[in-house]
Amino acid sequence: MKNLPFSNLACMALTTFFALAITSPVWSETKANQLFGAKLKGSNQPVNPIGSYAKGCIAGGVLLPESGPTWQAMRLSRNRNWGHPVLIDFLIDLSQKAKELGWAGLYIGDLSQPRGGPMTSGHTSHQIGLDADIWMLPPERLDLTRQEREDISSISIRTTDQKNVNENWTDTHMNLLRATSEDPRVDRIFVAAAAKIRMCEQAGDDRMWLQKIRPYYGHNYHFHIRLKCPETAANCITQTPTVNELSKGGDGCDENLAYWVSDYFLDLLKKPPDPNAPKPRHVRDYVMADLPEECETVLNSP
Ligand SMILES: [Zn+2]
Repeated sequence: MKNLPFSNLACMALTTFFALAITSPVWSETKANQLFGAKLKGSNQPVNPIGSYAKGCIAGGVLLPESGPTWQAMRLSRNRNWGHPVLIDFLIDLSQKAKELGWAGLYIGDLSQPRGGPMTSGHTSHQIGLDADIWMLPPERLDLTRQEREDISSISIRTTDQKNVNENWTDTHMNLLRATSEDPRVDRIFVAAAAKIRMCEQAGDDRMWLQKIRPYYGHNYHFHIRLKCPETAANCITQTPTVNELSKGGDGCDENLAYWVSDYFLDLLKKPPDPNAPKPRHVRDYVMADLPEECETVLNSP
C-alpha cells in the first residue's frame, strides 16, 4: 500500500530502462525486476511456478479477469493481476464466499507480474503466482472504473499504535479470514498482529483455523494469502512449516503473538537502521543469476 505513489513513476522509469537493457552488453547485470516488470503478458508455456515465493518466477501465468460478479482487481496500471490458474480459481471462489458472508464481494490487490519474478516496488514475495492481497475495504460497488481503482484507497483495521483493531474491523473480516484459512489450497495468511489477537480472543473452542493465520507487520490495509505449491508443480519450493505448525494443536495465540504488539518490538520498528550495518541484499537487487535457471527461459519465451 505504501508504495502506491511510486507505481506510475516506476512504470515510466521501467520503459526507459528496458529500452536500454536491450542494447546493453551487460544484460546479466540488469536487475531482474526491470526485466520481469517489462513483460506485459504471461509466457506461452505450460503453467509452472518455479522457485520460492520470494525468489522465483512463473511460466504460463494467467490473468485474473479485471472484474467479475463478485470481485474487482484494483490498481490495474500495475499489471499485477496475474497468477497460477489455481490462484485465480481460488480468488474467484473466495469472492463468492465473501458474498455469502455479507459483502458485495472482494477488492483484490496485487497477485504477481505476468511472469512473476521480483517487482520494481513493494513486495518481496508474490514472485511465483501463488500470493495475493485482499483489501480490508468491503466493496460498496463492483462497477468501479479503471480510474476509480487507481484513486480509492483501502482502510486500515487497526489503531495507529498497532496494538488493537479499530472501528473498521468487523465480524465479517474474521469470518472471511476463517473461510480463507479453512480452504485446503491455502498455506498461510499474513495479517496485522492486532487482528490475530482479536480473533484469538473471539474464536472459542473451534480454533484450529487460526494456525494458518500469521501476524506480520503492515498488513492492516490488506491481508495476504499464500497458496501451497500445487501438487503437479515440481519446481515450486514449499515453505518449511513454522514452529506453530509443528507443535501439536498450536493455534499461534501465544507469547510470540503478544511480542508483535509489545512496546519492545514496536520501538524496534521505529528505530532508524544502523547506517554502518551491512545492508541485506534485497530482491530488488537480484539479477537473473540469483533466480532459478529456468526463469531465463520464462523471461525469453514468446
Ligand atoms: Zn502481499
